[in-house]
Amino acid sequence: MIQNITYASMNFNKITLAFSEADEHLFLKKYFSDSILQFRIAFILVIILYGAFGYLDSRVIPEYATAFHAIRFLFVIPILIIVFLLSFTRVFQKVWQTLLLISVIAGGFGISIMTMFAPENYTYYAGMMLVFSAGYFFIKLRFFLATIAGWSILVLYNIGAIYYTHTPDELLINNNFFFISANLIGMFAAYNIEYYTRRNFFLSQRLDNERLLVLDANKNLEITVEERTRELLKAKEQAEESDRLKSAFLANMSHEIRTPMNGIIGFAELLKEPGLTGEEQQDYIRIIQKSGARMLSIINDIVDISKIEAGLMKLEIQESNVNEQIEYIYTFFKPEVEAKGMKLSINTPLPAKEAILKTDREKVYAILTNLVKNAIKYSNEGTIEIGYIKKDTNLEFYVKDTGIGIPNDRLDAIFERFIQADIPDQFTQQGAGLGLSITKAYLEMLGGKIWVKSKKGIGSTFYFTLPYCAVPTKETSVQQIVPSEKPDKFRKLKILIAEDDKVSEMLMDITIKMFGKEILKASTGLETIDACKKNPDIDLVMMDIRMPDMGGYEATRQIRKFNKEVVIIAQTAYGLSGDCEKAIEAGCNDYISKPINKAELLLLIQKYFGK
Ligand code: ADP
Repeated sequence: MIQNITYASMNFNKITLAFSEADEHLFLKKYFSDSILQFRIAFILVIILYGAFGYLDSRVIPEYATAFHAIRFLFVIPILIIVFLLSFTRVFQKVWQTLLLISVIAGGFGISIMTMFAPENYTYYAGMMLVFSAGYFFIKLRFFLATIAGWSILVLYNIGAIYYTHTPDELLINNNFFFISANLIGMFAAYNIEYYTRRNFFLSQRLDNERLLVLDANKNLEITVEERTRELLKAKEQAEESDRLKSAFLANMSHEIRTPMNGIIGFAELLKEPGLTGEEQQDYIRIIQKSGARMLSIINDIVDISKIEAGLMKLEIQESNVNEQIEYIYTFFKPEVEAKGMKLSINTPLPAKEAILKTDREKVYAILTNLVKNAIKYSNEGTIEIGYIKKDTNLEFYVKDTGIGIPNDRLDAIFERFIQADIPDQFTQQGAGLGLSITKAYLEMLGGKIWVKSKKGIGSTFYFTLPYCAVPTKETSVQQIVPSEKPDKFRKLKILIAEDDKVSEMLMDITIKMFGKEILKASTGLETIDACKKNPDIDLVMMDIRMPDMGGYEATRQIRKFNKEVVIIAQTAYGLSGDCEKAIEAGCNDYISKPINKAELLLLIQKYFGK
């Protein structure tokens, strides 16, 4: 029974030594190419020796010399020569083992006959041994076929010796001892030789596979390294680009902050000059105010973009009337547009009742304000139009100008941060290049989109969408609280200003004076608490959040322990996240952001002390 066994993971047939099919095919091919040279040399040697031994025939056994020569030169050697010549043809590879088998049997058969006819001459037994060794080790016949050849020769010899030459039993037994031993030794050796040849083949094949795997892994590694290098290069380029933008941004920002600062400091200095006319003074003050506003706006932009990037920007969704918002923007910017000799117009096609969006009103104001400010900034003549149209489930807003326009290749770039810093000088107007990126971020938060159509020299139209679903609204006449400028509408208050910064304190003092009958000051948290303890009749505390020794929140908490009535309004820094919530949580009644806007403060006072 043929059985496949596994030996050191090499699969082969134990008897024939054959591998499984595909491997066997490869092995035979390699065995042939490795053996063909040795086979040819060995075969030539065998042919020569087989012929040379003819000399012995004539000397040792002259009576059979003719017959033996006939066997040698007319039978065996021609077969060997034919096989040798066939080794130069293409078919040889397919049949060579069979031909070798025939050659060995023929050679062995020839010597057997000689042995039979000259049984007392031991030269021929030695000849038999040579044939066995040629078959088993010399001419590259494979183990299995060599075994067949060896035992066939033995059988042929015995048949001839028993039936034709009637060799005496003793001699026959003697000869068989030799021949059987030769076959057994030959088989053992041939088996081992072929086994190790095959094992070498198997191992080198495995080595090749491993090598291929290594090559493959190497190739993959190279590809990965290439990919990584590409990614790194990209990252490096991005880093360089961001670095370049940052430097440009810093340069621009430094200019942006320095310019209004120079305005403020310079004109404040000028104000000190004696002999200024009232009009000149007013002019200088206007410049200082404008510069301050410009600086505040740039700081607000930076805070906004930082909050957006840190994911801290929150939405406050409520119903909001877009017609009113557009009208407000119109009223607000009309004087500025007209001062430039241009016209501002609006288009609000939906009736007021239907012009309601559920959105963050403040963000919509900021978006419209940014776009309109840009339209004013980048136009010198013509018209600016603000409007919207209803499109499916959206309102599509537009702000159209007849300004300088934007070159085609920058239409996308302008929505990127700091990009203004990156444009050729002739377009550079004041601004940090943050407005549109804030606008875009707001719109993304509100579920809208922004895009622009523009022609250089003709003008630009910025479009943006906001989701619209017609909410049937109860007549929500948005209650406008109009602050009354007349201080006599309020009762006079006892006010404590808690503020460590002298300038802010002065400003607050001047702003709040009109409501106060008595104004107290404290510049630290502890002083504030102390002042409240000593003056239980204080009506209002304007509480700064950041003060030495104890911050405003903690001071408020302490005050609330003994005075629950006093109105405490926290002065928070603009837009810093969580300040407002923290203020209320600490026990403040309300909050107002710095720098204090007079109208806002008025509204708050009216809210708490209005008659
Ligand atoms: P900036 O503070 O520079 O105005 P923005 O982000 O608001 O920053 O705008 C980016 C750039 O887009 C501007 O610097 C300008 O080049 C261009 N831009 C914006 N709006 C307009 C407009 N209405 N007309 C022409 N160019 C505009």
